[in-house]
Amino acid sequence: MPLIILTGLPTSGKSTRAKQLHDYLAERIAGTKYRLHLISDDSLSISRSVYDLSTVPVHTRSANASEKDARAAIYGAVKRVLSDKDIVILDGLNYIKGWRYQLHCEAKAVRTPSCILQIGCSKDRAQQVNEDRLKRSQAAAEQHGADATSDTTEPYEPANWENLVFRHEEPNPMTRWDSPLFTIIWEDDDKQVKKTFDSLWEAVAGDGRKIIRPNQ
Ligand code: ADP
Repeated sequence: MPLIILTGLPTSGKSTRAKQLHDYLAERIAGTKYRLHLISDDSLSISRSVYDLSTVPVHTRSANASEKDARAAIYGAVKRVLSDKDIVILDGLNYIKGWRYQLHCEAKAVRTPSCILQIGCSKDRAQQVNEDRLKRSQAAAEQHGADATSDTTEPYEPANWENLVFRHEEPNPMTRWDSPLFTIIWEDDDKQVKKTFDSLWEAVAGDGRKIIRPNQ
């Protein structure tokens, strides 16, 4: 069953939509033999700081070890559960096209489809969300001490956030690994979101599902 890869700018609403998709799919597969998994940086306890290149010297940036380790952990978690009976939602930045290609190949190796769910959000709005989170976590830390931020979602440091936006590689539905591509934008209401989830289901799990052959 499919690997559904979310992608979008940092703090653009990916986790919110991933949870909605999880609820939608849980209902659709209730009473069947299928299992559902939601994998994310948070579920794997990966800190936002692993993506921070501002502390890494320019000439070693391509070898940023912490992000590589994080990707290895995510890859392992996906690989462990992905099968023809498991639906995997991968909530995360997934902003590198080579990484999405790798995940697509992994799905193909277990003869199950993959697709991309792109979360569209203006840069300004996403930035505002991160700034609000930064303010909240600073206020909480001042009030209760350093560990008081544990109950709020971790913000990105501003330079890290900016750099991730700069590095973001938009999915291209003309490529095999970025298709089929579904898009939900911040403003989409419940009706529109359900419509998109219905099309996604139909393409990768419904009757219209393509038979996957390893050499395709
Ligand atoms: P990301 O996973 O991309 O970092 P989140 O899903 O955690 O982003 O969303 C960031 C914040 O924005 C959360 O407080 C969430 O409640 C809010 N949010 C996300 N999507 C929407 C939306 N479509 N409409 C209103 N608020 C939203």
